[in-house]
Amino acid sequence: MLSQISELELRELYIKFPVPACVLDREGRYIAVNEEMASLLATPGPELVGRRAAQYFGPLADERIARDFATFDAGRSIPNHEFPALGRVYIVASRPVRRDSDNKAFAIHVVLVDITDRKRLETQLENANRQLSEANHKLTEAARTDALTGLWNRHALEELMPWEIGRSQRDGTPLSVLMIDIDRFKKYNDRYGHLGGDEALHAVAQAMVGAATRPGDMVTRFGGEEFLVLLPGTDAAGALKVAANIQQAIAALAIPHEASPTGWLTVSIGVASLPPLAASIPAGDLRTALIEDADQALYAVKQGGRNGVRLHAPDERVTGG
Ligand code: GH3
Ligand code: MG
Ligand code: MG
Repeated sequence: MLSQISELELRELYIKFPVPACVLDREGRYIAVNEEMASLLATPGPELVGRRAAQYFGPLADERIARDFATFDAGRSIPNHEFPALGRVYIVASRPVRRDSDNKAFAIHVVLVDITDRKRLETQLENANRQLSEANHKLTEAARTDALTGLWNRHALEELMPWEIGRSQRDGTPLSVLMIDIDRFKKYNDRYGHLGGDEALHAVAQAMVGAATRPGDMVTRFGGEEFLVLLPGTDAAGALKVAANIQQAIAALAIPHEASPTGWLTVSIGVASLPPLAASIPAGDLRTALIEDADQALYAVKQGGRNGVRLHAPDERVTGG
């Protein structure tokens, strides 16, 4: 036989229900509260009956209760929602209590589920996720940055160069590079020590960054005392201008180099430029051609006595296409 549960037993179950629950009238007064709710409000249950919920949960509770009644009167239901109160965060489930005769709710039944700990965990998880993504971002930055000079490194250049070449092909814009090598740098290290050499490298790098100032310009440490400057949207004449600016900026540093015939630290610069080219030429071929051209021009400057700039002659270029 199916066992029956008496009304008294049901009432007892409600009183002992393991989460705070209450019934509120249209004025926001407690009609019934269970033990959990009484203990949450630190007031004996019988004393709570007749008191306003706003007395414990603040004036916002009055507004909320009025709104809930209006929603129920309109025949709609209220989705469970978060409710911060008494220093904790709750999920509130609010249901209308109606009499058969009347469609209007004469009371609402409210149940609170404390989700403070879960919210705290969520916040911690969000913070941890944010820190992780920041760390990842820094790591990616570090992987593309040269530690000594703060410039982009070779890895960053190899990532970006094919992209820039592709873009200049699509947009029909020129692209130039400068290959820059510090003159007699081995002797500089021999004379001023390796740390002195490091300092000079850093200073030269800053001067180059200050001289190649267009938003797309990319100054990279190609290796050792060699640098490559990528100049998107810049033709040969423009690139020669940037090269001259860089030489001036380095001359202005006036770094003494007693082991050099000039007496100062200088650089040699090879310039190579791609005119707007057909998109059919593979970007990899153009990358190689640009670097080789700039290298050849640089070699010619070194052969000619260093401390100078030379543009690779266009007819010498091998474009692979
Ligand atoms: P050239 O005028 O023909 O370019 O002569 P060079 O001495 O500059 O060229 P070489 O290739 O013979 O020597 C390059 C030197 O650059 C070797 C090394 O002592 C120095 N060098 C390369 N990387 C670093 C670095 O990170 N720090 C320091 N201090 N020196 C470096
Ligand atoms: Mg070198
Ligand atoms: Mg050198």
